[in-house]
Amino acid sequence: MKNINDLLRDCIRGLKPYSSARDEYTGEVGVFLDANENPFNNPYNRYPDPYQRKLKEKIVAIKGAKASQLFLGNGSDEPIDLLFRAFCEPGVENVVSINPTYGMYQVAADINNIDVRKVLLTDDFELDVPALLNACDDKTKMLFICSPNNPTGNSFKKEDIETILSNFDGIVVLDEAYIDFAPEKSFLPVLEQYPKLVILQTFSKAWGMAGIRLGMAFASEEIIRVLSKIKYPYNINILTQQKASELLDHVAGKDAWVKEILAERVKVIDGLSQLSFVHKIYPSDANYLLVKTDQPKAIYNYLVDKQIIVRDRSSVALCEGCLRITIGSPDENNQLMDALAQYNK
Ligand code: PMP
Repeated sequence: MKNINDLLRDCIRGLKPYSSARDEYTGEVGVFLDANENPFNNPYNRYPDPYQRKLKEKIVAIKGAKASQLFLGNGSDEPIDLLFRAFCEPGVENVVSINPTYGMYQVAADINNIDVRKVLLTDDFELDVPALLNACDDKTKMLFICSPNNPTGNSFKKEDIETILSNFDGIVVLDEAYIDFAPEKSFLPVLEQYPKLVILQTFSKAWGMAGIRLGMAFASEEIIRVLSKIKYPYNINILTQQKASELLDHVAGKDAWVKEILAERVKVIDGLSQLSFVHKIYPSDANYLLVKTDQPKAIYNYLVDKQIIVRDRSSVALCEGCLRITIGSPDENNQLMDALAQYNK
């Protein structure tokens, strides 16, 4: 069994990270003359806390983990990129990913010149566990699972994810961006059982904070130390830290949004299922629906004419004919249903 140190790229294992002014001294301070900042309080003249200590304490109090098990990034996309840079030697090593899934794993791999071995989901969008494990070799450093999966919308079986966690000897990245909408539980409570598991979550979906760019990676302290070592020193700005901290005081507001979005999802499913050109609405554990139609491009263009934008996923593996439709506000969903009711008439 490999440990984290075995899995790291040589250049990262030996890396001496940049030490910022705010890194070097953390005690009580009266006068800051260490970071060449402008001294006049505007009030953003100071660099932010490079490790976002207060914000992390607030997040883990809600999520149930230790602050040392949490990395905060500029969206979840930042830890995805950092994981490639920490563990995968460009041009030499590879990762395994399900297909179809969230497109950024492939893009981050391409940027880092890492081969992605894509393993198709089964026809009913489940994990093909033997095929995923067979796709791994001694150069496979990470395996990506997104649950609920984008764009299929379903969550994978807990036992299948556990089988992969127990049998793959590398980093398993479990992307739970849509977990707040799902009936299934997060893997966060069992994080400590799996030292090579990284769980991604985000403030961009249920929390309604896509605009402030804040993503979370939960993992063993060892992995978090590595990500913290290679990130840009002040990756989360003061405004984002402050806004997130304010919104975390309103968990009930987030829960109410989720409840309303789930109720709207039922209404949209009901409306879509009455349309003759909709052949299938796939079961969803997320805030979007994957919808099979006979004319995805024509419907997409028709909606664009009405200034309603959905996502054409018809060229994605296993998603022939499919549009992905995000659940909007009640008014937005009504506009969508009114427009679709007029289609082809
Ligand atoms: N993971 C998945 C599965 C997503 O669908 C998305 C956004 N579309 C993200 C991560 C990215 O989230 P963030 O805004 O935190 O970068």
